[in-house]
Amino acid sequence: MNYLNKKTVLDIDVTGKKVLVRCDFNVPFDESGNITDTKRIDESLKTIKYLIDNKAKVILCSHLGRPKGEFNKKFSLEPVAKQISKSLNIDVKFAQDVIGESANITVSQLKDGEVCLLENLRFHKEEEKNDPEFSKKLASLADLYVNDAFGTCHRAHASTVGVTQYLPSVCGFLIQKEISTMSKILDNPKRPFVSILGGAKVSDKIGVINSLLEKVDKLIIGGGMAYTFMNSLGYSVGTSLCESDKLDLARDIMAKAKEKNVKLFLPVDNKVGKEYDPNTESQIVPADKIPDGWMGLDIGTKTADLFSEAIKGAGTVVWNGPMGVSEWDNFANGTIAVAKAIADSGAISIIGGGDSAAAVEKLGFADKMTHISTGGGASLQFLEGKELPGLSHLNDK
Ligand code: AMP
Repeated sequence: MNYLNKKTVLDIDVTGKKVLVRCDFNVPFDESGNITDTKRIDESLKTIKYLIDNKAKVILCSHLGRPKGEFNKKFSLEPVAKQISKSLNIDVKFAQDVIGESANITVSQLKDGEVCLLENLRFHKEEEKNDPEFSKKLASLADLYVNDAFGTCHRAHASTVGVTQYLPSVCGFLIQKEISTMSKILDNPKRPFVSILGGAKVSDKIGVINSLLEKVDKLIIGGGMAYTFMNSLGYSVGTSLCESDKLDLARDIMAKAKEKNVKLFLPVDNKVGKEYDPNTESQIVPADKIPDGWMGLDIGTKTADLFSEAIKGAGTVVWNGPMGVSEWDNFANGTIAVAKAIADSGAISIIGGGDSAAAVEKLGFADKMTHISTGGGASLQFLEGKELPGLSHLNDK
């Protein structure tokens, strides 16, 4: 899929127009309701500022969490409106609903260059169903639509696809950056091209593995998904994550790698634990010697060295998925080693969102990466070459 020809905010006249902007304000909160990480909001500011400077009437919308289609104060976007007000030193007006009276009044009172935020889109079950009536009502608030929520572009929802039926639709700066950076790197990768895949399941990543096997020189597989591969080689994997119905698939992938001359790396040792618990008793054992009743929760030290060595000298690196249960300090070392190896390699690097992005941020390596995608699922789908409905429905140049 080629999305480089999609119109952006720079291709339309926004002055005096009501512009509906789909953002990704799905930010984390602590127990007292304070936003603990404003990154997603910060990433949206460039487009919002552009629209303010060009005297648009800006109507922001987003989802937050999983409120299951009904109002739930815990998932209100009101704190986000306050945070944007603070970041831009403006007064962001907050509508108490999405397509109701409050939204209509708030939008009708907007002056050129002013901003409002609608309440959580997912307070309506119609949002995720891409309901045409809901889409039409949401679109009727505005004259133009801007999508800047890359993280939800792989989903066909009312606010990502439905509204595009009713409004001229373009992308914002954040989406444009995601598309142009990833397309450039993938279309003409500096070699050697190394991809590292981890995370929980082979079945989630099969599409991306197949598409990367056509492009990369080396493929490194770690995380929970590696145990299906090891099991397919005849190793016992104890109580590790293993998809026993995917053993043939794992063998096919290994055969395809050989055929394509892609060097495939699997763990040679693992850090195993007695139970799925952050403080469980643990030990490092060779890959073919996982004892019965133990589960692999991280790659071992020899594997961390092997993977780091394979990353050294890379021209391009694409990484998606942690090497173990990186949320737990006891089982984060493999993921840390990979993050460090990428940072030290000087390679052009794309980090898929989610846990690998979180690891890179937490370790302070973010500055050393070329691109950290704001969307885990969306970036995987992009790498896979699959359609992202939130992008394909935007207007072409
Ligand atoms: P994904 O969303 O597929 O990238 O998977 C990320 C999740 O995989 C994280 O929550 C990790 O805790 C989990 N994960 C990675 N390695 C393992 C493992 N060896 N056992 C269980 N879960 C794992």
